[in-house]
Amino acid sequence: MADMVRAVVQTGPRQMELREFPRPVISAGGGPGGAQDGALLRVEACGICGSDVEQYKGAMGSRGLPMIPGHEPLGIIEEITPETAARWGVKAGDRVAVEILIPCRSCDLCLAGQYMQCKSRPGSHGGYNPPERGLGLYGGYAEYMHLHPNSIVHPVRADIPAQIAVMYNPLGAGVRWALQYGGVHLGSTVLVLGAGQRGLAAILASKYVGAGLIIATGLGRDAAKLELAREFGADVTINVEEEDTVARVRELTGGDGVDVVLDLTPIALSPILDAVNAVRWGGTIVLAGLKGRSADGEPRAVSLPTDMLINKALTVKGAFSVDAAAYMDAIRLIESGKFPLEKMQTHKFGLDDVEHAIQLLAGEVPGENGIHVAIMPGL
Ligand SMILES: [Zn+2]
Ligand SMILES: [Zn+2]
Repeated sequence: MADMVRAVVQTGPRQMELREFPRPVISAGGGPGGAQDGALLRVEACGICGSDVEQYKGAMGSRGLPMIPGHEPLGIIEEITPETAARWGVKAGDRVAVEILIPCRSCDLCLAGQYMQCKSRPGSHGGYNPPERGLGLYGGYAEYMHLHPNSIVHPVRADIPAQIAVMYNPLGAGVRWALQYGGVHLGSTVLVLGAGQRGLAAILASKYVGAGLIIATGLGRDAAKLELAREFGADVTINVEEEDTVARVRELTGGDGVDVVLDLTPIALSPILDAVNAVRWGGTIVLAGLKGRSADGEPRAVSLPTDMLINKALTVKGAFSVDAAAYMDAIRLIESGKFPLEKMQTHKFGLDDVEHAIQLLAGEVPGENGIHVAIMPGL
């Protein structure tokens, strides 16, 4: 095995370079504070999403740079200390999906199952870790990653192509947002606003549990994604540039509106008002599309008719992140083989082409339309 590990390092906004790092040495209790404990993961694939795009552009600030991005990794455990193997229930040779957060696993929030908000986390995978912390190789844009003993991993069957198995991340979001936050279940009527990889994932999750009516929206340029939405289980798709979403939803639901609306559209504010108008009395709206900040730096705001929330007895939920239960359900969905997920997997690139991959997902590469884009360090 090579002594050096290739990894993509972000040094500034839109600045990335390939660097070599010494291959981490894993040893039980080794290094300061047990920093070398844990496992060594050979990265097979790392998904990229809108957060990678924001990170690349520098929208998340430059504190913590340089760093190795990549927060949706999947790989094979190559080395693991006996204690970590016992705690995680995995062994060398196993394929695992890795969660972004490395929680402390013992604060009040961790014990309450809200570990995504852990206040004393040792770090995160693909987040802004100080470069001097631990063994450095935290992110998934690399041939190998060091997994801290507190990392959270989920076993995934090894016979599924890596570029498909790595979709545990967007599918986990679909499960979390549609099923857990939205409460979609057998027979539910659902409106999914936005047809990106997470919109498609929400459709898959809703279909998986037997939703009765699934409606999905997109723009004119999303035609291919809306076609895929129908293939994945959407009963009706709406091109919002040609049709009025609310009128169409009312028509499809006998005037009642749908049980659950998910807003997954970035930046656009009008879908939030569409959600309020298209949801039925007593229904649930899940907000997961970040709207960003205005030129003055303030969060972009929509003027919300709060009387409608009251008079329609609505529940509005902010969907933050994904948890272990959702990731596990998403992995079961992938392993079920029930959906042609390969149709969502549009592009895969090696470490030399990470910037191109991110630009492609961001829609900056003319003529290319990415849905799920994976970095595969072995390519
Ligand atoms: Zn992501
Ligand atoms: Zn904690």
